[in-house]
Amino acid sequence: MHRSDSGRETDRPLRLGIMGGTFNPIHYGHLVTAQEALVQFHLDKVIFMPSGHPPHKKDGEILLPEERYLMTVIATASNPDFSVSRMEIERKGPSYAIDTVRGLKKIYGESTEIFFITGADAILEILTWKDAEKLYDMCKFIAATRPGYCLEKFKKLHLLPNDTELGKKKPQVYFMEIPALAISSTDIRHRVCKGKPIKYLVPEGVANYIYKCNFYR
Ligand code: NAP
Repeated sequence: MHRSDSGRETDRPLRLGIMGGTFNPIHYGHLVTAQEALVQFHLDKVIFMPSGHPPHKKDGEILLPEERYLMTVIATASNPDFSVSRMEIERKGPSYAIDTVRGLKKIYGESTEIFFITGADAILEILTWKDAEKLYDMCKFIAATRPGYCLEKFKKLHLLPNDTELGKKKPQVYFMEIPALAISSTDIRHRVCKGKPIKYLVPEGVANYIYKCNFYR
């Protein structure tokens, strides 16, 4: 049971979106993805979860967790349905999704329905994630794709919704095509490095913060 926006208690379990990502930096593609998931999946709120130490990335390859966290706070500040968690940036060791989902269930209650939202390429690796099968029981996944993204790789891994591969436990994955994901963090970093504009690709406050701190030069 939780309180709805009107303050009324409601019997249906809380539906929570976790927006998992490195956010190096956060951009409008991420924000549109979270807003679209909120509406399409009737979520009560979306918690942005900047990774502390992404398991597949070397430290030094990306900005510090605190710097990525701050940009995420700046980008989401004006949206009452969004918040940002420090859970992964404060946890020591690699940022495993299973630990995050367990932590959130402790805070919000076991009955909370969790939707882990992230990029399709990250979800594609899900079979290699820590305690993957346990994770499948604890949350559903929303894979955000860029326009023209080919789902063939998901087909090969039997990860498409109607695929029934006997004897195998599978994650529940929903797909969401987001045109704004034509924007990418990699491209933004390259643009800053080459002195090209990033106006309208990231919120103004994020751009100002990037220039002020001299990131990606
Ligand atoms: P990544 O490899 O940096 O990103 C893969 C692709 O997904 C990129 O194209 C990226 O675009 C896009 N993307 C990333 N986050 C997104 C989001 N929230 N919404 C839309 N597109 C997104 O992946 P990552 O950021 O390291 O990892 C993604 C999530 O998976 C994180 O929460 C991470 O902790 C989790 N993960 C967990 C495990 C595990 O539990 N073992 C292992 C790996 C990843 P941009 O570069 O433009 O963002």
